[in-house]
Amino acid sequence: MGNRIVILGAGYAGLVCALQTRKYLTASEASITLVNKHNYHQLITLLHETAVGARSDRSLRIPLDKVLADKDVQIQKGTVVKIDPSAKQVALEDGQTISYDLLVVALGSETEYFGIPGLKEHAYTLKSLNQARLLRAHVESCFARYPLERRRELLRFVVGGAGFSGIELVGEFADALPRLASEAGVPLEYVELYNVEAAPGILPGFDADLVKTAEESLKARGVRFLTGVPITQVEPGIVHLKTGDTIEAETIVWTGGVRGNQIVVDAGFETDARGRAKVNAYLESVNYEGVYILGDCALILNEQGRPYPPTAQLAWQMGAACAKYLYHDVRGGVKEEFRPNIAGAIASLGRKDAIGKIGRSFKATGKMAYLFKDASQYRYLSKIGAVFANR
Ligand SMILES: Cc1cc2nc3c(=O)[nH]c(=O)nc-3n(C[C@H](O)[C@H](O)[C@H](O)COP(=O)(O)OP(=O)(O)OC[C@H]3O[C@@H](n4cnc5c(N)ncnc54)[C@H](O)[C@@H]3O)c2cc1C
Repeated sequence: MGNRIVILGAGYAGLVCALQTRKYLTASEASITLVNKHNYHQLITLLHETAVGARSDRSLRIPLDKVLADKDVQIQKGTVVKIDPSAKQVALEDGQTISYDLLVVALGSETEYFGIPGLKEHAYTLKSLNQARLLRAHVESCFARYPLERRRELLRFVVGGAGFSGIELVGEFADALPRLASEAGVPLEYVELYNVEAAPGILPGFDADLVKTAEESLKARGVRFLTGVPITQVEPGIVHLKTGDTIEAETIVWTGGVRGNQIVVDAGFETDARGRAKVNAYLESVNYEGVYILGDCALILNEQGRPYPPTAQLAWQMGAACAKYLYHDVRGGVKEEFRPNIAGAIASLGRKDAIGKIGRSFKATGKMAYLFKDASQYRYLSKIGAVFANR
């Protein structure tokens, strides 16, 4: 094997992989190039907070040159447009080509629109810091415009999808809307917040008692749930529901699904129907040797043979495991199979509330659960050496 390691994507999987790989391999053993669209790592798990103005953009943006200072990792700011695994080359949007010996693909996921007409064109999404900023600016403009235009749809907010990220966003909206209404001098009873979900319930994967607690907390803060109600079409400012009803809302956000990055599909890696690459027990593409595929781009099955939900926790664990595989590729030795260690999951419900499980059985709710979530965020930041990186 040669020794040019190229990592695509500086998200949870890619950044941890770059940092850990450099701990195992010296610069004379392997060069590491980290390619990313932006010159910063974004804390995607907190996007819902910045989308409503509860947290600054800056606190979510970790400059790559700071966390990788003195690490002998070459940062290449650029957008990947094509991977050619037969030629072992990656093409960037600006026309550059990068050759590799070992490749790590960690480009994250894309929004899944399920072919719903108009959804892609007319709904906001929450997959990047720039999208969160756009949504925040839009929400603020709705409140600013209301006293002039007096259109009630300016004060109607629809979040499509009641999975993890959808509910976290709904929780933030529930906390932020009273503040925004009061600042704009708008009566709070004019503001309507809907959560629309095709499945019969919210927060799939969480225990029923935790789901009930979450639902009660959000309903008490004015959230109107429409579960078991698929969205069938979206027009500018109008959501069509399968029931035949419509909601006229100036703000429509879609959080209802993700799929693997299209670049991975186009490269010819074997993928499932949701564009996630099939990998072996060492996170290597099943049809291209020397290519590791991590994070939201990869399909990892649990003991029941079902895909693990895409999470940051799983992504960075894959990044850390991949670093060891790269070490073995360069230095030899036996690789150990990847086994995720999921330390529970906590969904925030605004700034003072959350529900979740820590470990296999400990359940937490309310402020305590929120503090656990905050602590796990802090643990991640210390892992990547970024506690003070964005100050
Ligand atoms: C609102 C929200 C809340 C969430 N909350 C949680 C949570 O509480 N806990 C949890 O565990 N998970 C949570 N998740 C899920 C979690 O964020 C993802 O599973 C995780 O980000 C996946 O990591 P990744 O490294 O695969 O991809 P990402 O973190 O998305 O990183 C991909 C990187 O690749 C870059 N990139 C993409 N395309 C290109 C390209 N063409 N060229 C160059 N660079 C490119 C991106 O800029 C990015 O830096 C949440 C997600 C959202 C949207």
